[in-house]
Amino acid sequence: MNDRSFLVLMVGLVLLFAAGGYGVASCGERTRIPVVRHTPRPGREVDPPAPASQMAIVKKTSFSTSATMKREAVFAAEADGALVFSRLGEPAPGDWLFSFPEPGQTFQDYRLLAGLNRKTARRKTLHLLPYRDLDRRQRRVLRPLREYLSIFFESEVKLLPFERLNRSWYDAAREQYRAGEIAAYLASRVQPGSLGLFGLTSHDLYALRLNFVFGLALLTHRAGIYSVHRYGQEPKLLLRRTLKLAGHEIGHMFGLKHCVFYKCTMNGTNSLEEMARQPLHLCPVCHRKLQWNLRFDAARRYRRLAAFYKRHGLER
Ligand SMILES: [Zn+2]
Ligand SMILES: [Zn+2]
Repeated sequence: MNDRSFLVLMVGLVLLFAAGGYGVASCGERTRIPVVRHTPRPGREVDPPAPASQMAIVKKTSFSTSATMKREAVFAAEADGALVFSRLGEPAPGDWLFSFPEPGQTFQDYRLLAGLNRKTARRKTLHLLPYRDLDRRQRRVLRPLREYLSIFFESEVKLLPFERLNRSWYDAAREQYRAGEIAAYLASRVQPGSLGLFGLTSHDLYALRLNFVFGLALLTHRAGIYSVHRYGQEPKLLLRRTLKLAGHEIGHMFGLKHCVFYKCTMNGTNSLEEMARQPLHLCPVCHRKLQWNLRFDAARRYRRLAAFYKRHGLER
């Protein structure tokens, strides 16, 4: 990527589409330019923290406002068994919530979300589209990924035949693909009976004014494109990161916004380092939303997830 400085990593830039076209908001706020700078080094498994001198321009804003704290209290009251989950706490410089002080989404907010992707008797299958650029190691992740998602979302997951990314989506000057164009194309192919169509590529992606994104999902259009480009080659790490990315991004496709209350797979992520601190599972608040939508048996789902984690050495 030459000597270009990178802005913030952004997992799950989710564009909400209004009925009349592009509109509303994203998980990260589109009007706020990310300001944490660092230069990823090829081959590193963990991004280096941003130098302190470059943190000076990060303004800590209203995360700790009374309104946010009041909403958090509501969330905590809603959460069953909250004691076994860790609260997220105050964001530190470099964390997602430090750069993007999001208010969070209550269960009631979730239920009232316009255009919410609901599972129905007719719409019950997720579609995973792998791209040919995935190498041998990355392709090995596809089978466990499919199994994991079928458990995580209690839905059938179909693996589609490999396809190639269209070169018209490539930005030669940046050596990256335009995630928004790919996602829009995928959105045009979503079948009425599909819960969502998500593509997986090894190419680097960017969107809007961000230097790169791990993934981009179109909430009410049930489509997304995700990249494993920055996940390294160590098999277990690659698997964990890919599962985390897919669970998080497809969570967005089901209308879940970033979680600000517990350590949770729906936490916004600014870097691989921050991602490593987050669990694969949902917190009680996000779990309640998904259970309400998908109507699954929570105990059965947890049993199956535990067995999956054990089989793949991901119990931590
Ligand atoms: Zn996200
Ligand atoms: Zn959560």
